[in-house]
This record gives sequence, C-alpha cells and structure tokens, in this order.
Amino acid sequence: MRKVGIMGGTFDPIHLGHLSAAEEARARYGLERVIFIPNGQPPHKKSYPVTPAEHRYNMVRLAIASHPHFEISRVEMDRPGPSYAVDTLHALREELGGGVELYFITGADAIAEILTWRAPEELVKSCDFIAVTRPGYDLRRLREVTDALPGARVHLLDAIGVDISSTEIRARVARGESLRYLAPTPVVRYITTHELYVS
Ligand code: NAP
Repeated sequence: MRKVGIMGGTFDPIHLGHLSAAEEARARYGLERVIFIPNGQPPHKKSYPVTPAEHRYNMVRLAIASHPHFEISRVEMDRPGPSYAVDTLHALREELGGGVELYFITGADAIAEILTWRAPEELVKSCDFIAVTRPGYDLRRLREVTDALPGARVHLLDAIGVDISSTEIRARVARGESLRYLAPTPVVRYITTHELYVS
C-alpha cells in the first residue's frame, strides 16, 4: 500500500520546524511523498490577521523547492469558504485513486481540537494523524481525542531541533530581529521583499 503524507497548516510563515517535522514523518512512516496544503481560509478564527493565501503558498513553494519528495497543493486555497480537512481528504482520495493510505500531519494543538472540526468521526476513519508536539506538550489533551473517538489513529512525533513557531517568527519581524536559521533563506527574503509581518 502506498503511503502519502498531507502536511496541513496555515504556514504563516513556514519555518524549519515544519520542514524538519515533515521530513521526520516521511522517513519514520515510509511516506512516498508529503503534500503541503496551505489552508485558504483557516476554519477556526485566528487572533491575528492571517496573511493572504497567495503569499503563504509562495513561501511554502520556495521552502520545499529542493526536496524531491515534497509537493504543494492549492486544493484548499482554490476551494471557496473555510478549509475543512474532511473536504480536503475527499478531494485527495479522488485525485490519488485507491490503494493509498493518507497520513495527515499537523500540530498536536490543532489535532487536540479535532472534536470541534467538521465531521470528526468521518475524518478519523479516512486517515491516520501525525501530531507534531513541542517540548513540554501535555499529552492529556490528545488522550481526550482518542478517548472520544475510538479507532482514531493518532501517532505522536516530537518536533526535533529548536522550538520555532510561526507566532515567534512574526513577532521577531515586528521587532526587527533576524530570522536567519529559523526559516529557509528564500522564505526570509520573500518576507523582506513583500514587507510581511512588519507591524
Ligand atoms: P494552528 O491552530 O494555527 O496551530 C496549532 C499549533 O500547531 C501551532 O503550534 C502551530 O505552530 C502548529 N502547527 C500547525 N500546522 C503545523 C504543521 N503542519 N506541522 C507542525 N506544526 C504545525 O493550526 P492551523 O494552522 O489553523 O491548522 C492546522 C491544520 O488543521 C490545518 O490543515 C487546518 O486546515 C486544519 N484544521 C481543520 C479544521 C476543520 O477541518 N474544521 C479546523 C481547524 C484546523 P505554527 O504556528 O508554528 O505553525
């Protein structure tokens, strides 16, 4: 059976933590490729103004350009309305055909909220989940999900390397601090050129 990873996120912006987690998931679970899917309209309201999807897409494209097994999809960006994961999984199943196991990779904090996502029972039947945790993550939050959704296949993946977050990257830009070694160089250049996150 072929295994394909789906790397879902807002990626505002993408950083080395996302990339190392995707690579670790690919190697550990034998994924033939990982498809990065920047969401169009995040289903849950954010506490900050989300950068237009086209910029977030361009940054992901630049970040993964050199990896032969990483791809990017516009499936969520080109679908009007909120980007529900259940719709994305349907669309990918149609596109990829049968005989494929899907692994949805995203932050453990996001997966801990899955009971509030659209159609969680259907969702957990359609793929495995890889929950990327940060140092000190409280595993009890994920246990609530697996208790409430028996049969959910949730695997844990500890983020390796430094604890980088998109929130911290945006804050560093606003403070005029360097992003060197936190995101790929082309992404840092893109942020500077387009004056993203300056205030
Ligand atoms: P979020 O709440 O912005 O992120 C929660 C945490 O997860 C943050 O610490 C974030 O760190 C981390 N994270 C996000 N994406 C990650 C990734 N691919 N790998 C590792 N860590 C990641 O989450 P979000 O971006 O809105 O949503 C994550 C995914 O869940 C998206 O694909 C979204 O569409 C899906 N989702 C679906 C529904 C639904 O179907 N109703 C509802 C909510 C979310 P960073 O800030 O550093 O990325």
